[in-house]
Amino acid sequence: MNSNEKQKKSQDSYRLRTRLIHGSFATGKWDYDHHVVPPESRSTTYRLSSVHRGAAGFVEFATPAAQRAPIYIYDRLDEPTRGMLEENLAVAEGAEMAVTFASGMAAISAALCSLLSAGECVVAHRVLYGCTHELLTHWLPRWNITTHFVDLTRPESVAEAATENTRVVYFETPVNPTMELIDIAAVRQVVDQLNEGRPENARIRIIVDNTFATPFCQHPLELGADLVVNSLTKAIGGFGTDMGGMVAGPNSYYNKLMLYRKDFGGVLSPRAAWTILVYGLPTLATRMVNQQKAAQHVANFLLQHPKVARVVYPGLPCHPQHELARRQMRSYDGKFAPGSLLYFELRPTSGSPAAAAERFEDYIAENAYTITLAVSLGQIKTLIESPYSMTHAAVPEEEKIRSGLHPGGIRLSLGLEDWHDIVADLEAAFSVV
Ligand SMILES: *Cc1c(COP(=O)(O)O)cnc(C)c1O
Repeated sequence: MNSNEKQKKSQDSYRLRTRLIHGSFATGKWDYDHHVVPPESRSTTYRLSSVHRGAAGFVEFATPAAQRAPIYIYDRLDEPTRGMLEENLAVAEGAEMAVTFASGMAAISAALCSLLSAGECVVAHRVLYGCTHELLTHWLPRWNITTHFVDLTRPESVAEAATENTRVVYFETPVNPTMELIDIAAVRQVVDQLNEGRPENARIRIIVDNTFATPFCQHPLELGADLVVNSLTKAIGGFGTDMGGMVAGPNSYYNKLMLYRKDFGGVLSPRAAWTILVYGLPTLATRMVNQQKAAQHVANFLLQHPKVARVVYPGLPCHPQHELARRQMRSYDGKFAPGSLLYFELRPTSGSPAAAAERFEDYIAENAYTITLAVSLGQIKTLIESPYSMTHAAVPEEEKIRSGLHPGGIRLSLGLEDWHDIVADLEAAFSVV
């Protein structure tokens, strides 16, 4: 080490918000010291200088934390642009490693399937993203992997549902779309007790979907999750241009996830990886700070509106788990970070709330400038939708009602517009409620 290197401050000593902008520009994945912006690499296959190098590449593949550039062989195995994004995503989640996938669902299925074998069981919260619910109820049972759905707002329900074959506890927090919270540290305590005396390969692992909160607002690994998954399509990508997913956690999971991705094939394209690396992740903190501000203003507006029956936003003191929200949802700088999503129900002057919600959203679809009727969330544009009939159509009726997801419920994902304009567009739509 020369004196110059000795004086250079370690990247680890900078604050996370700064590190997401500059990334690991001295990355072992690729030397781009002379670029200000990381280059985009696009090559499906790699020239090998010798058969020996090719053979070494296959042997080395999927070993974590190589200090030098990996021996790249073929895009589906490993690739530098994706690798640079993965390094930065690991930093964002406070993880040793991250592995990206073609979509959030590709990441979720990889996290689950790489941990589970036939005959094993999952305990999951009763309300989940619609496609995750389908994966657990439609596909995995075909391979004799079964799921017990419980109310994880009561963490002790893990112990009530777990059997000797349980290997995974799976949930989202905040829950999509009801915005109820699950106490990650409390679930950890219950799982630790269940794991006592179990051999390593029979332990229960906790997987948390952090898509709603984003790694800016919540750090599941720090709170006790074994693995965290995110849809990169949502707030991490942020601009709504590319799909992606990620799994992050300790290095001990890296090999399995990389091998799974190689053989099931759900790789993130380098092109999408570059967009998220250059635009999405570096702006995550700034976007979230401002989108969250808008969410707080809009939640306050809805709360005092006579035509609103209920607003659920972790930033409101009336949220039933506000104390947990304050403890669990913290930004990189330690501030309360309740996120950019809220859920509300209407109190119409006549007719059913469901019919009123449809009129309300149709009015917005036709007339609002700042609010778009569309699924997805976490973008710079404010999006509105009806989870009951749209994103959560797959969840059984009685389950939806029991979990507080009503036919008239509306999900709002706040963007970067001036919140006064969003409030004005909402106010206009209340004329049809
Ligand atoms: C969107 C979403 C997913 C799935 O992500 P895709 O990128 O659409 O595959 C999973 N979980 C949650 C909470 C989501 O909102």
